[in-house]
Amino acid sequence: MSLMRSKRFPSRFPSVGFAHRALIGIGGNLGDVRRRFDKVVDYLRHGRLVRVLQTSFILKNPPFGYREQPDFYNAVLEVETELSPHGLLRYLLWVEKRFGRKRSFKNAPRTLDLDIIFYDGINLETKRLQLPHPHFHERESVMIPLMFLKEVRV
Ligand code: ADP
Ligand code: MG
Repeated sequence: MSLMRSKRFPSRFPSVGFAHRALIGIGGNLGDVRRRFDKVVDYLRHGRLVRVLQTSFILKNPPFGYREQPDFYNAVLEVETELSPHGLLRYLLWVEKRFGRKRSFKNAPRTLDLDIIFYDGINLETKRLQLPHPHFHERESVMIPLMFLKEVRV
């Protein structure tokens, strides 16, 4: 396991005062993942739906579940948004698709995974969306990058 930087990880950006805060987990293990993470941050920053407030270091870690695949890269982003929890999920799934995500089987290799870890203080349990993200506190891929964020206000 190792910690890495890239152009946009870690970094901080000013708030524009959107109403809601969320913590997003970003992951991937196919192709040039760190370069893709930078592109995702720039993509989010140029849209009007989500503002990136800060990004963590990137954790490189071995795959779990299905083991015969490349190492994973994981980081977290604190964002602010005017979207609802379901609106934010829909948007993130669309961004995954735009960056080439194909869904095959559970724990399969992927170009980009965007998960909502927290959204404000909300607890939610629907078929499409669970908040906070289940088992996040047991995942090093979330907890280690999270230690590097400053004053998270989600
Ligand atoms: P995973 O992230 O567990 O590897 P996927 O990215 O394929 O798997 O996500 C599968 C589904 O998980 C999504 O289509 C979404 O409806 C659901 N889901 C439930 N809660 C969340 C959450 N907090 N953040 C992101 N997706 C979630
Ligand atoms: Mg996901």
